[in-house]
Amino acid sequence: MTKRLSGVDRDALGAAATAVGEPPTKQKMRGKQLFHWMYHRGATDFDTMTSISMDLRARMKAAWDLRRDKIATEQISVDGTRKWLVELEDGAKVESVLIPEDDRGALCISTQVGCTLNCSFCHTGTQPWVRNLTAEEIVGQVLIARDVLGEWPSPSEGRLISNIVLMGMGEPLLNYDNVVKALKIIMDPEGISISRRRITVSTAGVVPMIGRLGAETGVGLAISLHAVRDDVRNELVPLNRKHPIADLLDACRTYPGASNARRITFEYAMLKGVNDSPQDAKELVQLIAGIPAKVNLIPFNPWPGTIYQVSDDATIAAFAEIVNKAGYASPIRVPRGQDISAACGQLKSDSVRMSAKDRQPA
Ligand code: SAH
Repeated sequence: MTKRLSGVDRDALGAAATAVGEPPTKQKMRGKQLFHWMYHRGATDFDTMTSISMDLRARMKAAWDLRRDKIATEQISVDGTRKWLVELEDGAKVESVLIPEDDRGALCISTQVGCTLNCSFCHTGTQPWVRNLTAEEIVGQVLIARDVLGEWPSPSEGRLISNIVLMGMGEPLLNYDNVVKALKIIMDPEGISISRRRITVSTAGVVPMIGRLGAETGVGLAISLHAVRDDVRNELVPLNRKHPIADLLDACRTYPGASNARRITFEYAMLKGVNDSPQDAKELVQLIAGIPAKVNLIPFNPWPGTIYQVSDDATIAAFAEIVNKAGYASPIRVPRGQDISAACGQLKSDSVRMSAKDRQPA
């Protein structure tokens, strides 16, 4: 069995060339060449790498391969949203969602199989926790999406995938090292080249990792807030018991790089009778005072078996108005891909945790 290189970084690519007999003095240069072919050109076959000698290509091919994870199913919504169920090498599955706009598009990717947070209104929380994704599997979701769209070589403008949001299955900051490693590959200007300004990481509030994320990557931050009082938030986002609202907002106040040009997004799912009163809206603007922020109001997306209901349109509009009058942009998110369960909080794959024994290859 050959070993897979798709999704690895430049250093690992250089080392892979050295491992098949290239002199160590050329390691850096080979890493750079391979990186270009894989992440700028989207190569899935060493034979296309014409700037590399045929001899080295043959040796690489004998030892390594460039295969991607497979798309198990693709669903396309009436609104154009596309959801891919990606099957990983061990059979676990995660979902990625492409949300196209007229002249751009956001790719929403997953960072874990399942999730440990069990937010009461989120469908992913009802599936068993399986495992973290590797950095390669996180990068892989971008490669696969670009393959489907034929978006190679890496375009510099008019991209179908212009933005990336880490808002799929899982909590990115509980898989911190792999997420940062993947982001560095995705942002690299010699490869996929999606800039930190077009990347947003969404967190339910893993407070100790927030500042580090900003310092190490400079990406945009979204906070899944959803409530303005700890008693309510403890119910919706149980992680709040460990990292309460005040601590979370402190981390936002000091988030590296936050400014009026680069606001922190607060996500707020509108849940009927739970968090949607005018009083909640007023407390919200007091809480975030002084933070360069915008508030994304997400009408709750229902899923089978949930105890929650979406707020009425008029209630959402009134909430938005209070936030807006206080000086914060408060767009109401139009749900995308609801008919294919691709909207926020609807992602769920049927992966179940396997014992270590079951996971051994036959
Ligand atoms: N764990 C991270 C990444 C998931 S992002 C986080 O919590 O931020 C998914 C976003 O959708 C989060 O803001 C989440 O709170 C929100 N969400 C979850 N379930 C939802 C639902 N049923 N309707 C609307 N939004 C939901």
